[in-house]
Amino acid sequence: MLPRMADPLATYPNAVAIATAVKRGEVTARAVVDAALERAETVQRDTNAFTHLLHERARAAADALDAQATDRPLAGVPFAVKANICVQGVPTTAGSDILADFVPPYDATVIARLEAAGAIPIAMTNLDAFGMGGSSEASAHGPVHNPRDPSRVPGGSSGGAAAAVAAGVVPFALGTDTGGSVRQPAAFCGVTGFKPTYGTLSRYGVIAYASSLDQVGILANDAGDVAAVLDAMVGHDPHDATTVQVEPTFHAALEEAASPEAPLAGVTIGVIRELLGEGNAPAVLDAVERTRMRLQELGADVREVSIPSARAALAAYYLIASAEASSNLARFDGMITGKRVGANGDGQADVMTQSRGAGFNLEVRRRILMGTFALSAGHVDAWYGRALQVRRKVADELSHVFGEVDALLAPTAPSSAYPLGAKVDDPLAMYLGDVDTVLANLSGVGAISVPAGTDEAGLPVGVQLLTPALHDARLLQLARALQD
Ligand code: GLN
Repeated sequence: MLPRMADPLATYPNAVAIATAVKRGEVTARAVVDAALERAETVQRDTNAFTHLLHERARAAADALDAQATDRPLAGVPFAVKANICVQGVPTTAGSDILADFVPPYDATVIARLEAAGAIPIAMTNLDAFGMGGSSEASAHGPVHNPRDPSRVPGGSSGGAAAAVAAGVVPFALGTDTGGSVRQPAAFCGVTGFKPTYGTLSRYGVIAYASSLDQVGILANDAGDVAAVLDAMVGHDPHDATTVQVEPTFHAALEEAASPEAPLAGVTIGVIRELLGEGNAPAVLDAVERTRMRLQELGADVREVSIPSARAALAAYYLIASAEASSNLARFDGMITGKRVGANGDGQADVMTQSRGAGFNLEVRRRILMGTFALSAGHVDAWYGRALQVRRKVADELSHVFGEVDALLAPTAPSSAYPLGAKVDDPLAMYLGDVDTVLANLSGVGAISVPAGTDEAGLPVGVQLLTPALHDARLLQLARALQD
């Protein structure tokens, strides 16, 4: 009898290793994709991480790749996609009933570029509808369970993507991060979650939540994979005027990074005082402290810094994000876009009301109402206008502090993963979980969450690093130094 072929996902621990093996002909893309799909089916039973598995599409892509020698950088690497990023021919529901029947006729730019690099999407992942939430419970597909402890949430809104990586289905997944939705689930599931500088990755084909804050992010097991995947996606996109021309040199920059004895000599890191106060679980404060000591061992100069407006940032974020959402989601009217509820004879206003009432969940409706109020005549200056002023202040304070330090350190979230159901009826408690992450979105800077041990229950805890805009290569070097 032939020996059973080793599981390629176990043999090749990350995306770079898989691509190297496929290019050398040690393993076929098809074998890797089959293994990932098989694992996805098992993991789905425990976690509900996926909204759709792309069996045929993925196998066809793998076979096409195997049919010819390839030197593509991510040859045969399977990945998962948060279901608010369009994949051609695949249901992209954004976790909402209103898009239950939506099958995009085109790929988002980030997907097209990954496919051109040889990577293969194998699954769409579950999320809070439209990215609005922090626990991946507010989904038309049902809640996601954390693979580290299925009684707990995986974080959100990219909870399915984080679960897919943490459970070993794929070496990386794409999420979106409007106020922390890549970094916080990464922390809850014990993986790395990276939100690049605003404008680094194209939002073309990403279902918009809050356009001035939205950015595609990467969930992976290590900084090297994040860099390799980032390289495949960066560069100006004529379909998204906010993209900047960033060169694909992130992986190379990691390879040539500093001396092994004191990799962070000369680097100055500030710990944000305002984010270390009450409201943090002891395990979170311990994780920051351990990271601070580790950074010092690696040669960094770590000091405390102040961002006085950090506490006001959360309120400003929820006003701005909701205001933009109320505008972006106006297109889902049941007329041209979105599932229609009601009969033609009911009249347009009635059908629109019925469609939006039935298609949007409670949280999405809450955001639309909040955002519409914040923008309404007579209130716009007091609410939206003030929020923009706070946003400006956050950005100014960050850039002032970045005059003194190269990077910032903060918790990723005030707690580790909590039990399913714990916060579903308390939106404010849910919102408070974003206090650490929104700074990077409001100011546009890059930020990464890296695993930093576990709490007393053995659940993962993450810490977050931030660097000035377009210093993402430095950010990944710091993450890599910590993980090593
Ligand atoms: N939890 C935050 C919100 O609900 C962030 C979500 C996100 O980054 N997409 O708005």
